[in-house]
Amino acid sequence: MMPMASRKSVLLLLLLLLELGLAVVPAICAVHRVCIVGSGIAGASTAFFLRNYSDSNLPLDIHIFEQRDVVGGRMAMVDLAGDKFEAGASILHPKNLYTVGFTDLLGLKRVTESDSSAFGFWDGEKFVFRTLQPGCSVFSKKITDLLNTLAVVWRYGLSLFQMRSHVQRLLERFTQLYAANRKAYSTVEDLLRSVELYDATQHTLADELIAEGLSAQIINELVTQVITRINYGQNATLSGLAGSVALCGSGADLWAVAGGNWRMADGLIKYANASLYLNEKVVSISSAKNLYNLSLASGEVENCDAVVIATPLDEEKISFDPPIHLPDRHMQHTFVTFVRGLANASYFNLESISSMPDLIGTLETSAVPFTSISVLKSYNDSDKAYKVFSRNAVSDDLLDLLFSRRDSTIRLDWAAYPHFKAPEHFASFILDGQHLYYINAFENAASTIETSALAAENVVRLLLERLSHGSLKTKVSIPVVSSDRKLYKDL
Ligand SMILES: Cc1cc2nc3c(=O)[nH]c(=O)nc-3n(C[C@H](O)[C@H](O)[C@H](O)COP(=O)(O)OP(=O)(O)OC[C@H]3O[C@@H](n4cnc5c(N)ncnc54)[C@H](O)[C@@H]3O)c2cc1C
Repeated sequence: MMPMASRKSVLLLLLLLLELGLAVVPAICAVHRVCIVGSGIAGASTAFFLRNYSDSNLPLDIHIFEQRDVVGGRMAMVDLAGDKFEAGASILHPKNLYTVGFTDLLGLKRVTESDSSAFGFWDGEKFVFRTLQPGCSVFSKKITDLLNTLAVVWRYGLSLFQMRSHVQRLLERFTQLYAANRKAYSTVEDLLRSVELYDATQHTLADELIAEGLSAQIINELVTQVITRINYGQNATLSGLAGSVALCGSGADLWAVAGGNWRMADGLIKYANASLYLNEKVVSISSAKNLYNLSLASGEVENCDAVVIATPLDEEKISFDPPIHLPDRHMQHTFVTFVRGLANASYFNLESISSMPDLIGTLETSAVPFTSISVLKSYNDSDKAYKVFSRNAVSDDLLDLLFSRRDSTIRLDWAAYPHFKAPEHFASFILDGQHLYYINAFENAASTIETSALAAENVVRLLLERLSHGSLKTKVSIPVVSSDRKLYKDL
């Protein structure tokens, strides 16, 4: 028989264990309320990864606040005379594995872009270079494609291949960020350093390409006029990393989601079973005693255990208490003008509309007040949909010169992406040392749909690891990139 003293100690031990158990179990199983500001791809993929990586040991209640009446943010559509076109982010790269995975998971259809349209560079008076218009038959299209390729190779020679291999190298490093054993980083610098991409944010694209031996001609024409100005509204003085990402936005196999890229955000939010509040602008965020208060423009106040900001804070006026400090950064405004009608071939000294290239990039000169004009859709020889990019709003006078007929015009002013520069300075992914996270700290490394999803994935693992005090480390697994591109745990 057990002596009285021993029985007492066992009882005490049991009581102690019970007490500890009671204290520990609710702490593990308490539902954490995570609030996300913004329903663009960053906010939507945050919700998705939170749901995908959390488990019954860390139950989550996910809330998304969106100031607009639609989800998707800069993935948005315009309706131009009854036809819908991408108004913001329009193309994705075939190696964008998160977004390829999202579309597979959500059952969305991908449509690929044809890259065989003719292009030209306009200096305000003449075309300094122009490829041939593709013919009508498949055979003549193939011939023009070949001749156009030869013309481009003839003009830029070895530099063309040097440019491609430069981009390829950066792409390979970027792809390492999908690796299964990657840790979650609390700073953009460490994340980029882990795959040797940080240095590319410290030099301009022009400097990097010159160091690689590319000719001034390819940098001034193809890189600047067609690629960086159209994709990021800036010339080759942007940082090497952002510039290389822009270079990836040209070439074959680029794709978009049928029906609009915004559908990815919509699908991910539904998949995550997150509570979505539209028309709810977050105006201030304050924190005390491990709890955040989100004040909404409607007057409501929400309590959250963690807050993820999924929008650039450069122009958004959210006030923080205690205040936060961000490095200087400003957004590059891009004006996108959609026109249904017919361009004026004589503006480009051309005799007929049929000889006008489908994509015209303009040289970086004050003599040309727009960046590019491209055909989005050709209904017939005299009825087309066009997209004009510019750094400033285009006046009606200019549009009347550019177009012989305008049936419908839509003008958009986007706070499009950060104004990239070198060297770049980054905000931290964690803004207050606690549970206030900022996905768009990554955006001045590069601004794309895929990189937003990638930054969101990193922030989610950071958040879950910190919220669970490291206990989730082994349970949270980063998507494995395998040949069949399986990104998600089994549904
Ligand atoms: C014209 C243009 C062309 C582009 N082209 C491409 C392209 O071809 N390919 C590509 O990959 N990328 C492209 N991009 C870049 C791409 O759109 C962005 O990098 C990406 O969509 C950013 O997503 P995000 O979720 O971080 O931000 P956003 O999409 O901006 O989402 C932020 C959301 O937060 C909401 N919000 C902001 N403040 C508040 C608040 N206080 N309260 C509540 N809600 C708030 C906003 O309304 C918005 O819905 C382009 C961008 C533009 C503008």
